[in-house]
Amino acid sequence: MSGLNENLVERLDKVYFCVQCKAVFLFRSDVIDHEEISGHQDMQTFPLN
Ligand SMILES: [Zn+2]
Repeated sequence: MSGLNENLVERLDKVYFCVQCKAVFLFRSDVIDHEEISGHQDMQTFPLN
């Protein structure tokens, strides 16, 4: 059962930041949901290195 954690860590190489409402998202899927719900499309990404 190592796949889940490895996937999680691998995907947490950056965070997404919504410029319009200052929300922070860890996953691309959350960003897509946010765009659909709010209509916000002005996203910045920040590396977590
Ligand atoms: Zn937003």
